[in-house]
Amino acid sequence: MSSLREELNQQPKRLSGYVSGGFTSPAGAEEIAVIDPTTEIRVATLLESSADEVDAAVEAARHAFDKGPWGAATVAERQAALTRIHDAILANADELAMLETINTGIPLSQTRNMHIPRAAYNFRFFGEYINQSGGEVFTQEPGLMSLVTYEPIGVCALIGPWNMPLGLTAMKIAGALAFGNTCVVKPSELTPLTVTRLFEIIEGVLPEGVMNLVNGRGHVTGTSLVSHPGIDMVSFTGGTVTGAAILGSLAKGIKGSAMELGGKSANIVFADADFDKAVDAALLSSFMNNGQMCLAGSRIFIDRKISDRFIDSFTRRIKALKIDDPAADGTEIGPMINQAQRERMERYAGSGLGEGATLLAGGHRCASLNTGYFFEPTAMLAPTNELAICQEEIFGPFAALQIFDEEDEVVARANDSEFGLVGYVWTEDLNRSMRVASALRTGTVLVNTPIVRDLRTGFGGYKQSGLGREGAKGSQAMFTEMKTTIIAR
Ligand code: NAD
Repeated sequence: MSSLREELNQQPKRLSGYVSGGFTSPAGAEEIAVIDPTTEIRVATLLESSADEVDAAVEAARHAFDKGPWGAATVAERQAALTRIHDAILANADELAMLETINTGIPLSQTRNMHIPRAAYNFRFFGEYINQSGGEVFTQEPGLMSLVTYEPIGVCALIGPWNMPLGLTAMKIAGALAFGNTCVVKPSELTPLTVTRLFEIIEGVLPEGVMNLVNGRGHVTGTSLVSHPGIDMVSFTGGTVTGAAILGSLAKGIKGSAMELGGKSANIVFADADFDKAVDAALLSSFMNNGQMCLAGSRIFIDRKISDRFIDSFTRRIKALKIDDPAADGTEIGPMINQAQRERMERYAGSGLGEGATLLAGGHRCASLNTGYFFEPTAMLAPTNELAICQEEIFGPFAALQIFDEEDEVVARANDSEFGLVGYVWTEDLNRSMRVASALRTGTVLVNTPIVRDLRTGFGGYKQSGLGREGAKGSQAMFTEMKTTIIAR
């Protein structure tokens, strides 16, 4: 057991909000237990932000935007601050990775090698990006010029989910600050450890009030924040149902939003694919992050010509995955985030069987691990795309396989989904990859490659998977107002 975990078990942290450059000490706040999903032991107590604290955080951000030095900061000054945040995250990377693993159950190899370096990189990327991005100039006739400039939008509410707490929130914070905004951040009440630690390790880097933190449950602190008249926009990552509720509340104030929502991404493997790479990738995109990933390619369509071999190989690989304490070396699958999420896995395993799917692997709690919310990595072969396991976002280590015969048929089945986040295509035929990529109704298509994010491009969803794109121009659109100034000589 890691010494950090022992420390937290003995003395759980007390986590509060951060307003105007300092942590708050709210008297009488509702106390929420933050649980390590591996040990089921409390590792922190979250002091829920009241409506008054949310109000103070929004006011602090407003003041810093209207009157503080951040509004007047040069691009170079903003870049310097973002670079210092990047450096601070990397300097504390080992501790942040362990905290993330303790709080989420994500294997340490993934938090250490991917999520934390990625969180840091967001700040470096957006610092560099603002040096290169600008506006546009058009001339209609000699002496008549149209200037398009992008101005900060103001106070941004940044709301994150529990499945990649620091990485996904860092992308929002970096984008919002880079384009000159101030913000109020609300992490998930289940996983506030790393985001709170970020506020500690960057103490003094930003002027007071530029970056504030509120904590608590969605229906309490979350609703206070999104319904606050002082915010100018909400950047939200989370479930589709929550996103819809937030959109309803924003409509009243005509407030902007960016919504990164759920997914149920198709992973199409044609018979001419590089077989080994396709199996490796299917494993990664179904089970990385314990399968709790918006861009999981866990709806796997296999060409009938290779289906027996693929199913055999994929099933053997699943059964060999190492399920254990996520902080231990070599662990590939850790626990689900909580008991409710594990019960959800059980319900889907039951519904899959009830609707006629065949169990290939998993399907149960881990018999060998009595403590912790462990669930076996699971795969089922579904007879049709109508099954709940093929249509609903399960958000756990659960792959639903289907067999197809024709390209048109598989594209139609892949698009037969309320979601449209990512499509994965495996084929060595360039023409086919282009045809299928353009036919898929998803915000991102990955051809012959597993999960990849490129901040220079936009990430986001079609249909119920969201509104807006994160990354480069998408973040610029999200965090700025476009202004047109037409000048005549
Ligand atoms: P969630 O919707 O339950 O919660 C997300 C955040 O919203 C939390 O901070 C929560 O406290 C807050 N919240 C809840 N109700 C609220 C309300 N009424 N008003 C304001 N805030 C509220 O989502 P989750 O369970 O934390 O995350 C899992 C979901 O996130 C999955 O659906 C997953 O696909 C999605 N996700 C999407 C992306 C993406 O980039 N598209 C990335 C990661 C996760």
